[in-house]
Amino acid sequence: MKIDLTGKVALVTGGSRGIGKAVATALAGAGADVVITYRASADEAAAVVEKIVASGRRGKAVLADAGDFAPASALVESVTGEFSRLDILVNNAGITRDGLLMRMGEQDWDAVIASNLKSVFNYTKAAVKPMMGQRSGKIINISSIAGVIGNAGQANYSASKAGMIGFTKSMARELGSRNIQVNAIAPGFIDTDMTAALSEEQRKKLEQNIPLKRTGKAEEIAGVACFLASPAADYITGQVVCVDGGMVM
Ligand code: NAP
Repeated sequence: MKIDLTGKVALVTGGSRGIGKAVATALAGAGADVVITYRASADEAAAVVEKIVASGRRGKAVLADAGDFAPASALVESVTGEFSRLDILVNNAGITRDGLLMRMGEQDWDAVIASNLKSVFNYTKAAVKPMMGQRSGKIINISSIAGVIGNAGQANYSASKAGMIGFTKSMARELGSRNIQVNAIAPGFIDTDMTAALSEEQRKKLEQNIPLKRTGKAEEIAGVACFLASPAADYITGQVVCVDGGMVM
C-alpha cells in the first residue's frame, strides 16, 4: 500500500534533527507540504526545508520554543494563512535532563515538562481550531516507552511521556466526533543525537534486551507516523503504537 498525502499540510514540532527530521521528510516524500519548528538548530532546519522542497513540496522552518504558549497559536494561524489548511500535527519536540530524583533539580523537571508536555497542549490547542473547521485532522504525539514502563533516572522524562499518553487518549475522546484522530507513537531506543552518548558497552547490553537485537532508525518511526497520518488509519484513534523492536509487549 502506497501512502499518499498529496494536498495535505503538516506541522512537525522539533523537525530540525532526529526523529522530527525523518518524519518531516517522509511526510513530504508522501506528498504533504510540511512546516517544521526548531529551537536552536537553524542550519539543520534549513537543510530539512531544502530536502522537502527537493521532493517537490512546499516547506518552511520556524524558530519557536515549543514550550511557549503564545507562539503556537500565532504559528498555526500563519500556517493556515499561507497554506490554507492544516491536516497533520506531529508533536515531536522533546529533550532529556536525566538524573536520579535525589539529584534532579527543579529546572531539570520544569524544562522537560515544558518542552515535552506543555508543548503538546500548546500546539494541539492551536491546531484543533482549523481541524474542527475542516472536520478532519490527524494528531500524532511522539511519546516513549519510558512513558509506558518508566525508567530509572528519567522521572521527569517518563512523567512527561506518560502525560502525553493520557493527553492523547483524552483528545481522542474529545475530538472523535469531529473526525480528528489522535494517536501516540512510543519509540524504544532510536539512533539520534538524543541517544548518542551511550558507550559501546552500554549499547551492546541494551541490544541484548531488545527482542529484535538492534536499536531503531528514525525512519522506522517516520514510517509509522506517515501511516497514522494517512487515510489508512482513519479508524484508529487513542492508541499508543510501540515502535521498539519488541521491548514492550
Ligand atoms: P533529538 O535528536 O535530540 O532532536 C530533538 C528535536 O527536537 C530537535 O529538532 C530539537 O530542535 C527539537 N526540540 C527540542 N526541544 C524543543 C523545543 N522546546 N522547541 C522546539 N524544538 C525543540 O531527539 P530525537 O531522538 O529525535 O527525539 C525526538 C522525539 O522523540 C522526542 O520527543 C523524544 O523524547 C522522542 N523519543 C526519542 C527516542 C530515541 O531513542 N531517540 C525514544 C523515545 C522517544 P533544536 O535542534 O533546534 O533544539
